[in-house]
Amino acid sequence: MASRMVYFFGGGKAEGNAKMKELLGGKGANLAEMANLGVPVPPGFTITTEVCTHYYQNKKTHMKGLKEKVQQAIQKVEKLMGKKFGDSENPLLFSVRSGARKSMPGMMETVLNVGLNQKTIPGLVKQSGGDERFVYDAYRRLIMMYSDVVMEKAAGIEPKDDEGIRKQLEKIMDQLKKQKGCKSDTDLTAEDLKNLCTSFKAKIKEVLHKDFPDDPNEQLWGGINAVFSSWNGKRAVSYRRIEGIPDEWGTAVNVQTMVFGNMGNNSATGVAFTRNPGNGENNFYGEYLINAQGEDVVAGIRTPAPINQYSKSEHNKELVALEKAMPKPYKELFAIQNRLEKHYHDMQDIEFTIENGRLFMLQCRIGKRNGPAAVRMAMDMLKEKLIKKEEAVMRVTPSQLDELLHPIIDPMAEKAQKPIARGLPAGPGGACGQIVYNAVDAVEWAKQGKMVILVREETNPEDVEGMRAAKGILTARGGMTSHAALVARGWGKCCIVGCSALEVDLGKKEVHIAGKVLKEGDWLTLNGTKGVVYQGQLPMIDATRNELLHGFLKVCDSLRKLGIRTNADTPEDAEKARQFGAEGIGLFRTEHMFYGIGSDEPLFILRKMILSSTLEERKNAIAELYPYVKKDIKATISAMDGLPVVIRLLDPPLHEFVPRDRARLEALAKDLNISMEELEKRAVNLHESNPMMGHRGVRLGITYPEITEMQIRAIFESSAELLKEGKKPYPEIMVPVVCCSWELEDQFAIAKRIYKEVLAKYNLKKIKHMFGTMIEVPRAAIVADKLAEFAEFFSFGTNDLTQMSFGFSRDDIGGFLPDYIRKGILPGDPFQSIDQVGLGELIKMGIQRGRKTRKNLEVGICGEHGGEPKSIEFCHRVGMDYVSCSPFRVPIARLAAAQAAVINK
Ligand code: PEP
Ligand code: MG
Repeated sequence: MASRMVYFFGGGKAEGNAKMKELLGGKGANLAEMANLGVPVPPGFTITTEVCTHYYQNKKTHMKGLKEKVQQAIQKVEKLMGKKFGDSENPLLFSVRSGARKSMPGMMETVLNVGLNQKTIPGLVKQSGGDERFVYDAYRRLIMMYSDVVMEKAAGIEPKDDEGIRKQLEKIMDQLKKQKGCKSDTDLTAEDLKNLCTSFKAKIKEVLHKDFPDDPNEQLWGGINAVFSSWNGKRAVSYRRIEGIPDEWGTAVNVQTMVFGNMGNNSATGVAFTRNPGNGENNFYGEYLINAQGEDVVAGIRTPAPINQYSKSEHNKELVALEKAMPKPYKELFAIQNRLEKHYHDMQDIEFTIENGRLFMLQCRIGKRNGPAAVRMAMDMLKEKLIKKEEAVMRVTPSQLDELLHPIIDPMAEKAQKPIARGLPAGPGGACGQIVYNAVDAVEWAKQGKMVILVREETNPEDVEGMRAAKGILTARGGMTSHAALVARGWGKCCIVGCSALEVDLGKKEVHIAGKVLKEGDWLTLNGTKGVVYQGQLPMIDATRNELLHGFLKVCDSLRKLGIRTNADTPEDAEKARQFGAEGIGLFRTEHMFYGIGSDEPLFILRKMILSSTLEERKNAIAELYPYVKKDIKATISAMDGLPVVIRLLDPPLHEFVPRDRARLEALAKDLNISMEELEKRAVNLHESNPMMGHRGVRLGITYPEITEMQIRAIFESSAELLKEGKKPYPEIMVPVVCCSWELEDQFAIAKRIYKEVLAKYNLKKIKHMFGTMIEVPRAAIVADKLAEFAEFFSFGTNDLTQMSFGFSRDDIGGFLPDYIRKGILPGDPFQSIDQVGLGELIKMGIQRGRKTRKNLEVGICGEHGGEPKSIEFCHRVGMDYVSCSPFRVPIARLAAAQAAVINK
């Protein structure tokens, strides 16, 4: 056995320290650290996590020598306290608590007041200055806790609901209170409590067929074993599954001298934070209760009072602050919290008890905080020189940063609400609105100033206007990279997809969820960050951008190595992304400019082009389309003046654009001067049984070189015009869905020819640009060395690369992914976070082979993973030059890239 099993702390020193969390658990390590700092902690000892793991591996036999080690530690405590465990004159009592490496709040057991028995009761009465009531209250608490935790739970007895021993004892207590006409526990007299203890013991004997133990040592070991057992209790096990905490860690057990916050009005107990965890302000913040034990604060029966003026709120402003009620211990507490924060270089969450005017610290740990508070604390501490830049950027998690970027549901209101359904969290933030069932209604209602939630089976490009108008989008089908998800995320819009509990009846305009029927106009609230749906209208908090956030992101920028670009398809999005700090566009999806934004005209002409059957027809349509394409491209390059803009040639299968409604089809037939019959025939011809692997991407450009030509011309001519206007255009032309180098050779030959023509037309020597390719077919990664002979840059399209590597359709994954995750077959959605084991290898190979041919090959990512923190860390590690993500994720990417640089330093 490597360790010594038992670590003592107290009296200004300890055998452990804060670095020993694995062995001593978080609580034990921090108690040791505080003792070493000379902070007044009640002395005690920690039994290590190793004992816990050994205990279970060896079927509950204790490790050799443990009893002796514990005995020695008890003697040390006795010496320090001048009290004795089990002594009738001056007894020492212990608390026995769990403490895992990572905090598992409320998941394991605690026993307090251990060592109290018939013999020691008089001694405690003496210590408390004759307060019999206090002593019998402590004794009844011990009996209640112990019979429940040790005699029942740890013994493996599983009573039915409501029949557990604790419940039965509570019933006896309630009866007595009723009999005596008492409102609260504190109205019971010493005599009442004494009788209660006797009744409790009788009940225990009756139900559990065992006597409540009177021997302090039996109590202590019962407590220690029960805490170890609770590591394997149901609650703890399921919590570990959710939080990903390994079973092998085990818990430590902390045995600590009892101090009493309930020894009268000169005693108190409380919880405090060294800074305000709600907003980050550098002010000591907390609450306390006079004459109470810790569990009373948690139980919420009495309203806790503020510790100081700063902590006053609407709820507690009438109550006396600790600084007024007990100025001396408060002053000491204030000095200690200051020291602890300086020592740990982070905000601390502390628990304290004041026993008869004397202050004790029971716990300190790094305090949890919300997003705005995290950013504020990081920046303040940096300014105060408490932490370095590297630490500051690690202090804010990407999801905390996300809280600052979107409106969210008021957390207090959300807590009180039960979800009616869950789906995939496709677009973050919260949204609240009235249900509409189609895009036209969404637009119409929004025009009337109503807030709407668009509910659909799934969405397609024709819904885009409605999606734009809606506050939030909810679909029954689809995965994280389905159309709805992609578009919503691009706009920073709240969106939940793949919510399979929905049964949408578009005809009747109603949706069935969990046995409820919701009609058009009914209210829904969505939490797109978690994928949770609520019925009704919940209040929202507007999380607006602030100066502090920009300052924080600048600190991130000073550390990161990865460039951050954005996926933007309109000049407005480009502008927004630039404000968020994007350093270029990593993906401009040409086809998105046709998705129903603004005028219908370009889409109409595009449809004409698609449904043309002769070269002549197509060329005419292309000529008509050209000015529209050029206008958008020019505006976007201009918005990104001086920064690179990756423009991707047309990608999707053409049939996606064929309209479904008759009126639109008729208009097209008329314009093309053909019959409806002929038009329908052409549309049917475009149909493919597997469009994602069909006539799309570069394959379109190979079949219809004139389409490539038109796009390249639009890019170079708009750049030429911008140059003439004194701007600095920098287009990077990108070919999608490439699988072999000859496709690139074919397309770049066209591009080079057009480039020369444009130079001549505008009398220019050069337009700064690059030619490159997407890597989104597995074969492309394998032949990357060949592709790099033509391509000057690679951009990994990990949406399609994931789809084609796994063979999972990105639009249909919602149907089976939940089962894969529930059964532990996949750790998570591979469309959200890069599958580093499989896809990761392919990406690494692609980069290595590409750079072997072309040393200065620029490499980026433009799949949705480019905005996901774990994937960004991966991109940093494999040496990409930049990541590209939707505008609203740019700040998160800046943070994640900085964190990747710090972690991999
Ligand atoms: C990709 O496949 O990763 C990509 C960015 O292209 P799209 O999502 O448009 O298919
Ligand atoms: Mg793709």
